[in-house]
Order: sequence, then C-alpha cells, then structure tokens
Amino acid sequence: MTETDTVFGKIARGELEADLVYQDDEIVAFRDLNPQAPVHILIIPRQPIATLNDVSVADATLLGRLLQVAAQLAKQEGIAEQGYRTVINCNAQAGQTVYHLHVHLLGGRALQWPPG
Ligand code: AMP
Repeated sequence: MTETDTVFGKIARGELEADLVYQDDEIVAFRDLNPQAPVHILIIPRQPIATLNDVSVADATLLGRLLQVAAQLAKQEGIAEQGYRTVINCNAQAGQTVYHLHVHLLGGRALQWPPG
C-alpha cells in the first residue's frame, strides 16, 4: 500500500464503508472498527498525509481543525465534561498501523496514564 492507498484513503474517497460521524471538504470522522473505549472515533484529513512527521507549516490550519472537530465530536458524544483523550500515533514504535494521519478520540471510561 502506498500512502495514497490506505484503508483510510479509501474511506475518505468514499470507496470503503465506515460508520461516519462527521465529514466536510477537508475532514472525515468515523468510528474505530476495534474500539478501545465506549467512544473511539478516528478523525482524518481527506488529504493523504502519512504521519505527523510529514506535516509542514502549510498544514497548520488543517491540524488545528482536526482537533477542533475532535472537541466538537466529544461534545456531541456526551463525553466533553467527564473528559476524553486525543492521540496521534506516529510510526511503528508508537503503534501506528495505518499510514494516513489520524487523531484518535477516546472516552466514555477512565483512561490510564501513562499509556502503555
Ligand atoms: P493506529 O494504530 O494509530 O494507526 O490506528 C489505526 C486504527 O484504525 C486502529 O485503532 C484500528 O482499529 C482502526 N482501523 C483500521 N481499519 C479500520 C477501518 N476500516 N475502519 C475503522 N477503523 C479502522
């Protein structure tokens, strides 16, 4: 798979089904197939950026919007007040498995710190 042909690229292009919870011109959000918490949503840019290492200053607004959408979804899902976590795994040692930048939104249970 190339960075433009990941499962998330296919979801962003509407070629693969996902449980979408948000979309606009730049961003798509959908429920994780293998949820690690009662709320586990992935927020991705439509643009195929492979990892956080690959962003530049030109992506700053887009990165901000990924977090803004995460906060909006946390409110929608009813977890904003109790608390939630946003995570971006970058590369293998952090556990990144899909090489299309994504923000995990996790909540609905107490989350341990530090993470494993
Ligand atoms: P990461 O380990 O940070 O790369 O996260 C990838 C996440 O994508 C994992 O939590 C997977 O469960 C999730 N995932 C993989 N394929 C799909 C899919 N087709 N739809 C929804 N979530 C997926």
